[in-house]
Amino acid sequence: MIDTNIISSDDRIINIKAHDQLLKSEILNLNLPARLDDNLQFTYDILIAYDTYMQKKAALVHRRVNFYKQISYTFLDNDGRFYSYINLHVGNVVQIKEESGISFAIIKALFTHKYNDGSTYAFVWINWLRESLTIDPILQCPVYEVQKAENVRWHRVYPIALIIGIPKVHFVHRCGSACTSTSHDLSNNQYFRNDFYYTAI
Ligand SMILES: [Zn+2]
Repeated sequence: MIDTNIISSDDRIINIKAHDQLLKSEILNLNLPARLDDNLQFTYDILIAYDTYMQKKAALVHRRVNFYKQISYTFLDNDGRFYSYINLHVGNVVQIKEESGISFAIIKALFTHKYNDGSTYAFVWINWLRESLTIDPILQCPVYEVQKAENVRWHRVYPIALIIGIPKVHFVHRCGSACTSTSHDLSNNQYFRNDFYYTAI
């Protein structure tokens, strides 16, 4: 199932498609809020996103959000010509434009929300990847740490227009003894930024 009735407040973004809406059971399993009121920090971050990036300051009438596994869209340049096709999946590392430059983040969830005027907008819910001071002594790669849940200082919800793209560099979990080939122990929140293309053994 693909939902296409989605617009962006940035008119360079067209052809937005949301794929594979999460079922109620999946939302429960992932501990995501089915309604805004189920997670006050999430609700607050959505309000900030509307206010800061979309110039919409009203209280939100619709309290429901729809989560998806994938959202794709076309980015146009300032002259309205094709610039890039972006296809986001939950778990992707993305680049986000900030005042201070470009930052990395991991997509925690992709969702849509209907604004008071009846228009539906697409958002990402992310965890920031912050560069730590550590350089891995063996691999000589910079180490990044995923924003922890209790760190609410950095907002996590952004309209999809803020995403610049998928980075060329790769992030690889800094595996510990509790990781296996099929499942990573994510209580360890460190990732390598792999600037050199190599295959982990
Ligand atoms: Zn791991």
